[in-house]
Order: sequence, then C-alpha cells, then structure tokens
Amino acid sequence: MATTALPVWRRAVIKIGSGLIAPGGKKCSTQYTLSIAGFITAAKNQGKEIIMVSSGAVAGGLSTQPELLKHTTWTIPEKQALAAIGQPLMMNHWRRFFDFPCAQLLLTYDDVHNRKRFVNAKNTIRQLLRMGCLPIVNENDTVAVEELRVGDNDNLAAYVAMLAEADLLIICSDIDGLYDSDPHCHSNARLLPVVEKIDRTIYTLAGGSRNPIATGGMRTKIEAAQKACARGINTVLINGRRREALDSLLAGQLSGTLFKRSQNPMTAKKHWMVHALTPCGQIIIDSGAGRALLQGGASLLPSGVTGVAGDFKKGDAVLVLLQQGKQIVPIAKGITRYGARDLTKIKGRKSAEVTGILGYTGAEVIHRDDLVLIYE
Ligand code: GLU
Repeated sequence: MATTALPVWRRAVIKIGSGLIAPGGKKCSTQYTLSIAGFITAAKNQGKEIIMVSSGAVAGGLSTQPELLKHTTWTIPEKQALAAIGQPLMMNHWRRFFDFPCAQLLLTYDDVHNRKRFVNAKNTIRQLLRMGCLPIVNENDTVAVEELRVGDNDNLAAYVAMLAEADLLIICSDIDGLYDSDPHCHSNARLLPVVEKIDRTIYTLAGGSRNPIATGGMRTKIEAAQKACARGINTVLINGRRREALDSLLAGQLSGTLFKRSQNPMTAKKHWMVHALTPCGQIIIDSGAGRALLQGGASLLPSGVTGVAGDFKKGDAVLVLLQQGKQIVPIAKGITRYGARDLTKIKGRKSAEVTGILGYTGAEVIHRDDLVLIYE
C-alpha cells in the first residue's frame, strides 16, 4: 500500500476500538493488540510520548456473561454493568505487554467540558507522562448517564488529544482509511491519503458502524478529526489490524488517511463554543443574513431572523440555521443576547424598532465575537 510522509510528531494519542481489542466482540485478544503494544513500546523508545484511549470494557465484560453473549443489543444498565466487569480485564490485558506502568483514567463528559476538571485531568496526564507511564483512558461508562456521556471513544480521544496537548491523534480502526465510497460495497472505492479540510462533503463519505459493541463508525472518526484539526492537531486514520500501518508510523510514513490540522487553529473559546456547548434552541435566518455571517464576519441582527425554535434564554447557546429555499442548513453556533420569547417579537424588525417593541434598547442577536461558523 502506498504511503505518504507523516508530519513530525512528539506526543500522540492513540485510539484503539473494540474491534481491535475484542475481535468478533468476544473477549480481549492478543490478535491485534500485540503489534499495537509493540508500536507503543517502539515509539516510546524513539522518545515519543503516547497516551492511549482504549475501548473494550463492554466487550471484556461480555466475555464473562455467556447468556448476554447470545444477544446483539444490550440495555443501558447491562452495558454499564458489563463495562464495570470488563474495564479491569481490559486494563490487565494491556498491562501484560509493557515493562512500564499503565495508568487508568476514566473520564466523563464533565471532565472534558468543565474547565476546572479539564485542567485537573490535564495536570494528571502531564505528571503520568513525566513518570514514564502509559496513560490508558476510557469513558467512565459505569457511572455516566446517557446525556452526560461523550458517547464514543473517537470523540473522547479528540478531547484527550487537546487535554494532553498532543500533536498527533492516531485513530486505529479495522479499515485502511477514509474512502471516496464504501469499500464494502464498491470494489473501485479509492482511499483518500490526505484530507485538507473537513467539510460537509467529507461527512457524506461516512456510513454507520457495523460493530454492535463499538459505538462509533466513520462519522464519529470524522467528528474526532474535525475537533482535533480545528485545534491544530494532525489526525490519522489507520488500519490497526495491519502491522505495516503501525510500522510505517515509526518510520515517519503514513499508510492510511491524514486529516491535516488547521493552519489557523481556533481559539479555545471558539472551539469550546463549537464542540462543547450544547445548543438550547435554534434561530433561522434569511439568505441576506447568511451571506453577512458567512462572508462578511458580521454580527446577527434581528432583521435577518425569520424563525425561532426552542425555549432558550439570553446567554444560552443556539444553533443558527440558514433557510435556503426548502432546505434548512446549520451554519453557526453562538451565544444569543435575547431569549426566545423576546426574539420572536423582534424577528425581521430593524434594530431601531427594537426599543419600541421590547421597552429596552436592543443589541445584536448574536455578536460576532460570540459566533462561530460550524465549518470554519
Ligand atoms: N467505552 C466503551 C467500552 O470501553 C467503548 C465506546 C466506543 O467504542 O466508542 O466498551
């Protein structure tokens, strides 16, 4: 397989999916993890720093429950219990390969979104690296309730890459990289060696997940790459089943897909707005306002708003949707300066009319400093 040059890196987060740790969803196996562990040891011997994000807790737990192994789906409490059983099995599986200590970090959504906890986790990882350990991160599936989960380890790995200030995110999957069509269905599908920019067309190349135990699929890998690249972290997608793909990385080459990091990384504030803030509602805008936001870097004014959805308050995060004929497309996220009720009253109106309608002097709906384009 052809290779491309890999930008020089010093600290990487490597994400290993369930399909590599527990092929066939049965139990932790050395089939692929042996060569992955070999890669980690060799990279550390080259002076690189590695942090691992490993799935496999649920799969590991399943291997102890013959009754549940017969099913193809599991309830949330079952999965949470399986993760509690399997997490130490997964850790033990990795630990046996290394002469240096492995350290377990179980993170939840809060740990990567709450500033204080983020900094705590960051300091711990830094200290672990100083101590020569291999930090092994997984989501704390046992305690994280559905709405407070990152939800998949691809996105978790992107957060960990930011937390660890890594310069490379390696996503190991069971596919050679990103293809221009689904290689399982199209024999002439072409692997994309480099993705310069992640935009809507890249997302259309993603299908769903085929593995009932794994949470993600190509989509979550692209999401992860987008998050990491936006913060200036190169991301590679390789086939973790192929030893040569791992050996290439050690030789500074890539056999897979490189998602190139942004040359103008987003500021932490903008990144947080796009990737961490959950929108409480939606604001629909017309094409004139759309142009002003997309091309002119303008603030959003009441006159450009055509619709309001959801029950948001002043200061909440909202999604900005552009009406294009019959289609409505998300283009930005921002912090609104009006609640939904007041905005409904002034939508479509000139700024000068706002005081008369609301009884207080108005402002932009979203100031441009509080607005970030989704595909910026
Ligand atoms: N945290 C899950 C586990 O360890 C896996 C989630 C994922 O694969 O994305 O089983």
